[in-house]
Amino acid sequence: MLSFYQQKLLSYFENSIKDDSVRHAYILKGPRGVGKKYLSHLIELYFACNHSMACKECTGCKSAIAGANFDIVRLVPNEKNKYDIQTVRTIIKRVYEKPSGGKYKFVVIESAHIMESVCQNALLKIIEEPPAYVVFLLLCDSVSNILPTIMSRVMTLELLPWSKEEMVSCFPLDNEDSFLYNYCMGNPGVLKSLLEDENFKSARSAAIGAILKVVDSSQAGAFEAFEILSGDKEHLHIMLEAIVSLLRDVMFLKNGLSDQIVNTDKMSEIKEISNSVTLAKCFNLTEIVGAIPSDLRNNENVSMQIQSMIMRIESVLKQ
Ligand SMILES: [Zn+2]
Repeated sequence: MLSFYQQKLLSYFENSIKDDSVRHAYILKGPRGVGKKYLSHLIELYFACNHSMACKECTGCKSAIAGANFDIVRLVPNEKNKYDIQTVRTIIKRVYEKPSGGKYKFVVIESAHIMESVCQNALLKIIEEPPAYVVFLLLCDSVSNILPTIMSRVMTLELLPWSKEEMVSCFPLDNEDSFLYNYCMGNPGVLKSLLEDENFKSARSAAIGAILKVVDSSQAGAFEAFEILSGDKEHLHIMLEAIVSLLRDVMFLKNGLSDQIVNTDKMSEIKEISNSVTLAKCFNLTEIVGAIPSDLRNNENVSMQIQSMIMRIESVLKQ
């Protein structure tokens, strides 16, 4: 199934090919997991198809599906999740070779946002003065790292999150898990990874227990919270996200926006915190927890960071 926005973008390319109004370079941006890569494979078929209709029957479509269409070029990061300049140069050479079958040469660059400037600069020339047949599609989680010189020469398209209805029809969940639809913020990739992670629910519950203990503001509570958070570094990012998400819900509740609450299965915990902290304090707590970098797993000072986070939370609560 395609989301409304995936379908909309697919139709956009289909129509552009029909009208012969295709541009030379596009950025497709959207958060990781929202379905950019999947969509790019569907778009690719319109460029590969001998009839420009993604028929899936012709030799162009069939070879594209098999990953063997000479006119479809897909650039992916290496095993270290990086792009090296040599690969980029090789690809550029391939792009200058005329299409073998169809009208287009379609170049998809996956995770283009991780490209360093040197690789982006190497691409710049061909994006500035592309051969008539070439179409670039750069997939980006965000565009903050993309050089302004590239940004000014591409058309940016955005893949927006899925609606809750789309998520429900694609991923039917039990009532007990239905909070996940809001928790993943319309991102099917995030939802899938949460469902596949058997430790997600226990880590989330432990984290919510930990923040309640700190809010309880006893010395023992703070120590127990520290034990919980520092005891499972593998899932620390899940726990910190769970706390931030819960604190946001407390702010929604305080602002009379109960319909925005994400953690609907934790209403009693949300109310408990809401009764103990003011809106301003809750805002401060969210900032303190949100400021901890999510990838702390390999950080030697992780315990110290957690301890200092808890101390800062305690000092806000005592104000
Ligand atoms: Zn076809």
